[in-house]
Amino acid sequence: MDCIFCKIAAGEIPSKQLYSDETVYAFADIDPKAPFHALIIPREHIGSLAEAAGHHKAVLGHMHVTAAGLAREHGLDNGYRVVINTGPDGGQTVSHLHLHLLGGRPMAWPPG
Ligand code: 5GP
Repeated sequence: MDCIFCKIAAGEIPSKQLYSDETVYAFADIDPKAPFHALIIPREHIGSLAEAAGHHKAVLGHMHVTAAGLAREHGLDNGYRVVINTGPDGGQTVSHLHLHLLGGRPMAWPPG
């Protein structure tokens, strides 16, 4: 499958690894929108959150627990934001489910 995030998780495209296990891979966003900007992806190819089904509950939880661990590890003690852009109206540009972890500055609300 020609998926850039599958290739990143497989090590075929270089990335700055932040966390890795058998279920998820986390790496630095190439175009950070905050002082700390990580992407957490499932190793399994899931196109977007819109494809989530019952058998994805564990991996979706795993992604969020990984985000919380990275936030602790990187000292985001004053708070942070996790975002899953979904589909064209959600601003999703890469068709492999990914959770953004953003921190290191105050976040505005509502997002654009
Ligand atoms: P989306 O817009 O789909 O929610 O987020 C995609 C994110 O992936 C963007 O923040 C973009 O900067 C990041 N991104 C796209 N291509 C690459 C890449 O090749 N390497 C890394 N590290 N990040 C990427």
